[in-house]
Amino acid sequence: MKLIFHGAAREVGRSCIEIQTEGDRYLLDCGVKFCREGYKYPEGVFKVTELDGLLISHAHLDHTGALPFIEHYNLVCPIFLTHQTMAITKILLKDSYKIAHVKHLHAAWNKTDLRQVQQDAHKVHFDKWYKHRKLKFMFLNAGHIPGSAMILCEAEGKRVLYTGDYNTRTTRLMAPADMAKIAKEHGPFDALITEVTYGHRTLPDRTELEEKFIASLKRVIAQGGTALVPVFALGRSQEILIMLSEHDFDCPIYFDGMAKEVTRKILTNESTYVINKDKLHHMLFDRAELVASQDRRAQIAQEPGAKIIITTSGMMQGGPIMAYLKHLWHEPKNAIFLTGYQVQGTNGRHLMEKGYVHIDGWKTPVKCEVQKFDFSGHADINDIKKSIWQSQAKLVIFQHGDPESVENMLAWAKEETPFEVKGPLIGDIIEL
Ligand SMILES: [Zn+2]
Repeated sequence: MKLIFHGAAREVGRSCIEIQTEGDRYLLDCGVKFCREGYKYPEGVFKVTELDGLLISHAHLDHTGALPFIEHYNLVCPIFLTHQTMAITKILLKDSYKIAHVKHLHAAWNKTDLRQVQQDAHKVHFDKWYKHRKLKFMFLNAGHIPGSAMILCEAEGKRVLYTGDYNTRTTRLMAPADMAKIAKEHGPFDALITEVTYGHRTLPDRTELEEKFIASLKRVIAQGGTALVPVFALGRSQEILIMLSEHDFDCPIYFDGMAKEVTRKILTNESTYVINKDKLHHMLFDRAELVASQDRRAQIAQEPGAKIIITTSGMMQGGPIMAYLKHLWHEPKNAIFLTGYQVQGTNGRHLMEKGYVHIDGWKTPVKCEVQKFDFSGHADINDIKKSIWQSQAKLVIFQHGDPESVENMLAWAKEETPFEVKGPLIGDIIEL
């Protein structure tokens, strides 16, 4: 068995790993990487018509965004993914098509390719063996977002576990990934391919972080201000709603953006390993006002009195948040509470580091309070190390991490573990 790395090799984005066996070719994930010019696609995926199967770990675009691009080159094989991943991927791909169109980015694929992704999708259940040609595979909970899976593959007598993105801590929304259990039930593994997004740093304790977040919200509400909470549509927005459901906020809560559609899908679809669905349901349908029009946004932003607004986009790059921000930025008793990682060059990052954002093209120095809360859906450095020990895999391959994360994990593993380790570059081939 050969593993070929077409993306996410010493970088975060465009995850795509090829498994080659005697006569068969499969891809694990098929994502894009965002850059100034638009999208970067996986490199060197030649002869798409000869692929025998695609297996998708979860719905984030850095794992699914290149699916229509691959379809454009006449894919003729099935795409295996969980029910939830399919339902959410459909929404995210449609949205990425819309954005590409509006921003004149050349997506290099069209609506027909998007429809074809749906036609080729084969939905799978968690914790069940499937067989396709000579490949046996199973999807296991990754704890990252709804539908997210680690993918266990077996062919030619070799067993490989691909983690996708994973989280070993319980969040408000997801049951955690359990590497010890997976290894006990399905090991030994010839190789573990693990993400190392946080291979160079630790993340704060979730309970403490949540307490700090809630206390900050309450303080802003008490002073009669508006708390603006930018969220990612998938994962973070649902988590924040569930957090709020456990506290009494004596003010209106507004929920806006693509997060509404995604949350509805999470609630109506098969949702193995999603927790607190009753709380999410209550918040979405009974407690929060779901905002849909530009007029209503302007009205809400200008209404006096305390309120909480939860909306996309999480990095303040467009989306309804900009409509609210226009009216809220100049008032010191208001606050912006960022809830996730802010990529370099985004409004969110500018706000954190330089105190300004671009509103309708104008560089605007924000006068309200700004705080960042490092909620994350990923394993941190200690969680990754623990998972590697638990997996007891013969070979550990580090990917989906910046070069410094990969180097850091390689150095640790070489010094402190007995495992063989590799940090491949794009185009590298590893033979098992
Ligand atoms: Zn992800």
